[in-house]
Amino acid sequence: MGIAENAADSATAVRRDAAVRAAVEQGLIAPDTTTATAASTAAPIVGLLDSTGIQDAAAALRAAFAQVTTAPVHHTFAVKATPLVPVLRLLHAAGIGAEVASPGELALAQAAGVPPTHTVLDSPAKTPAELRQALALGIAVNADNRQELARIDALVASAPTGSPIGLRVNPQIGGGSIDALSTATATSKFGVALRDAGARDWVVRAYADRPWLTRLHTHTGSQGIPLDLLAEGIQVAYELAEEINTHVGRQQIDTVDIGGGLPVNFASDATTPTHAAYARLLRERVPGLFDGRYALVTEFGRSLLAKQGTILARVEYTKKSGGRPIAITHAGVQVAARTVYQPESWPLRILAYDAKGHPKTGPTVPQDIAGPACFAGDLLAENRPLPLLEPGDLVAALDTGAYYFAHHYTYNSLARPGIYGYTTSDSETRFATVRTPQTLKDLVAESGGAHARTLTEGT
Ligand SMILES: *Cc1c(COP(=O)(O)O)cnc(C)c1O
Repeated sequence: MGIAENAADSATAVRRDAAVRAAVEQGLIAPDTTTATAASTAAPIVGLLDSTGIQDAAAALRAAFAQVTTAPVHHTFAVKATPLVPVLRLLHAAGIGAEVASPGELALAQAAGVPPTHTVLDSPAKTPAELRQALALGIAVNADNRQELARIDALVASAPTGSPIGLRVNPQIGGGSIDALSTATATSKFGVALRDAGARDWVVRAYADRPWLTRLHTHTGSQGIPLDLLAEGIQVAYELAEEINTHVGRQQIDTVDIGGGLPVNFASDATTPTHAAYARLLRERVPGLFDGRYALVTEFGRSLLAKQGTILARVEYTKKSGGRPIAITHAGVQVAARTVYQPESWPLRILAYDAKGHPKTGPTVPQDIAGPACFAGDLLAENRPLPLLEPGDLVAALDTGAYYFAHHYTYNSLARPGIYGYTTSDSETRFATVRTPQTLKDLVAESGGAHARTLTEGT
């Protein structure tokens, strides 16, 4: 256990172990290949979500910002991190709304019962129809660029709207360790590039010309962005808001949307950095933003959900190749695309359990944890020291609650696993279905099953 680990973090591990054991005992996952009958429906892989952990994370986020400002803080969850309706509803019940970036994500938030007043729309490619719908519903909208703002001009002129409207700016302060997730580089596709020639003056005029433009939005990136860089992006946005408000002579910008992007510790059970530490850092670096004059919007994704999720998969076979032990499991690229394709950027912790779901003990041996897909790189971990795995054992891939099993990749037509939320109380663990496993019938349907004859017979 690391120094930063506290009681809450070890409680997470205790709940997770209980959930793994219960998943075997209650038949969510097939316990053993040799005893499974043909009629058994237990799957060889499931996604597990710690419901208590989700609620605790939401409460900690709210407390963190309540401590640094007296102004209202509207927390939203970046739906793209875990696009699961029951999760969005649980977060909403815990006081966290939804940040959506596509018609699909908006539909999920609506299905979860998140009201328009607790929803923020941020997609960089909003169509006129999506904008009209959002403004009609009163959903907060952040325009990404000049052309989108012109479309909003026309819509605002044609019908009144209750939507708070903002503009996303790119502070162009540089990237973090993962290029694909750095959104404040000089040439990022997001927002109005603030340091380009003439851009700042254009933005100030854009606000002066539009009294209804009352929010300013920035999001510097996700995993891999140092905290200092996140803070710097928010400082740039704050200074711009001050400049605009001074220019127009009133507090026209009343809300700054500071985005999400708090990085997650994938190396241990410790939640670090915490939302509280981040909120304190922001207040220290940008005190004017926290003196009560500005309401805030937050859009955290990974930092709320990553540590609440576990992929649990059965070891089907074990072998040795070139002297190295390999465990062939049912968890691979279909549930962990980022780790499989970019293992250096996205290493995952793996735990070994025996066939009954008890932590496996014994001397550790470096071994590969392979997935079921038919390409050589389909590995969850390479040369990882773990107790030597055997067929029927289980492996757990930790911290996979965001951007992993909820982001299925249909390689080899591998079906989407079921996802279950768990709560533990007094030695009893209960599961709630979050998403049912995809059936082969569903899989054939999504693969053009209804159109089987169109290419051969034309009907
Ligand atoms: C992805 C994204 C987020 C959430 O990022 P996390 O790293 O998951 O916190 C928030 N806001 C916007 C605009 C995003 O694109």
